[in-house]
Amino acid sequence: MEKNKDLIENKVKETPFIDTHEHLIDESERLDFIEPIIPRDDWALLLNHYFSLDLISSGISKEQIDRLFSNQINPIDKWQILKEFWPFFKNTASGLVFRSTIKILYDIDEISEDNIIELQSRYEQTRKKEFYKYIIQDIANIKHCHINSPIITCKNAYWSWSINPLAAKDFLKKFTLTILKNKIFTFGGDDKIVENLIGHASVARKGIAQALTELVFQYKEKAKRAAELTITNKELACQNNIK
Ligand SMILES: [Zn+2]
Repeated sequence: MEKNKDLIENKVKETPFIDTHEHLIDESERLDFIEPIIPRDDWALLLNHYFSLDLISSGISKEQIDRLFSNQINPIDKWQILKEFWPFFKNTASGLVFRSTIKILYDIDEISEDNIIELQSRYEQTRKKEFYKYIIQDIANIKHCHINSPIITCKNAYWSWSINPLAAKDFLKKFTLTILKNKIFTFGGDDKIVENLIGHASVARKGIAQALTELVFQYKEKAKRAAELTITNKELACQNNIK
């Protein structure tokens, strides 16, 4: 099981994604800090888009969320706003995506008061010309990225990895046994902020590898049991002939 798991994880990791659907802000708009598309150019921007919905559910006030994404607040002081709500959603799929992103991109294990200065610093160092190519191709291993695709809309569930990775994994297992493999779209982030593709792709790849590992294990066990049964029947037949 472990050997198969490692093999599959590595294979999934080295296989480029065809990213079916994103809403990424243009790199030039990010770099030029075009308002209101970019409400504030700091680490809190990574919590924009879907993360803000979890923030609202966790009880943050309108005033607090406005301050979190405001250009009037020092980026370092923004942790004082987030820290009250972070424990509520750090283990949701959104939290997992954010944590995976800052781990892979900035080598920060867990956001805290101790590393918020480093987080802001690493954010600024990364956000430079051609950082989209660096993030999408070099880190997230995405080969083609479809932006605002009119055909494959966001109503489809391929961004379910960032909603519920466990349900997405189970769905993929069932779908793999139901439909042709060239009809399965395994990834699309529906993201606006490019950095989050890293965490999103990481969570998706773990789920895909887990789905495939479980399928291999389940069907290998079934094949093994069928083989044992066949052998037993042959042995019985053989014994009957002798009699
Ligand atoms: Zn969409």
